[in-house]
Amino acid sequence: LEQMTAAFDRMNMVGSMAATVAHEIRNPLTTVRGYLQVLERKEEYQTDQDKFELMIEEIDRANNIIREYLSLSHEKFANLKKCSLNNIIEALFPLIQADANSSKVYTALNLSDIPELLLDENEIRQLLLNLVRNGIEAMPSGGNLVIRTFLADNKAVLSISDQGAGIPPHILDHLGTPFFTTKPTGTGLGLAICYQITHRHNASIKIDTSNTGTTFFVYFSLPTP
Ligand code: ADP
Ligand code: MG
Repeated sequence: LEQMTAAFDRMNMVGSMAATVAHEIRNPLTTVRGYLQVLERKEEYQTDQDKFELMIEEIDRANNIIREYLSLSHEKFANLKKCSLNNIIEALFPLIQADANSSKVYTALNLSDIPELLLDENEIRQLLLNLVRNGIEAMPSGGNLVIRTFLADNKAVLSISDQGAGIPPHILDHLGTPFFTTKPTGTGLGLAICYQITHRHNASIKIDTSNTGTTFFVYFSLPTP
């Protein structure tokens, strides 16, 4: 029980601290976006419309990430709807590929026919992106990353495999602790968010790791027909 209480305290801490940071980042972004829109209309920038468009788009993207994160840290329950996990993965794949290819990581999908699951689409996208990002970062000199879905033990399973150096046992114990990171510029929030998301989905995470790579498995219950 003591361990559970500690875990919940950590969860609350990540929720409130990250929410504050996210809020504080939003205001300057709004200011920058506003002035970009003003400058965009000026005569001398008429040949730079594409650059302005891109800058505003990127600000909107950052705002979306913050909004998604805020909704995640505030809401107690996920907005679960019956939907296709494979469709979510396929829709996100071009983004994943672009991200991976710029780090010399090659990605493959291996999706099996699985039934629709009760999912919060935004949260599943975030879960996937966080695990993929870790996989890419585990292979600094490149490698292969494979995303799979399959059925096992009456569960639908999502797995993300990398060919990185693996996770040593003393680090495994700390995974999911907010702000725990071994990376110079890491936030240590990625897995904490993943655990929060899986918790909301009644799903569980299993990790298979060795010095030749790591696989994160996420087990989802099948909805009762
Ligand atoms: P961050 O990526 O910002 O460090 P995360 O919560 O995503 O934070 O991950 C926490 C730590 O877990 C990482 O710093 C790393 O040490 C370890 N880790 C997570 N995924 C992997 C992986 N696929 N391979 C090796 N180590 C990993
Ligand atoms: Mg991470």
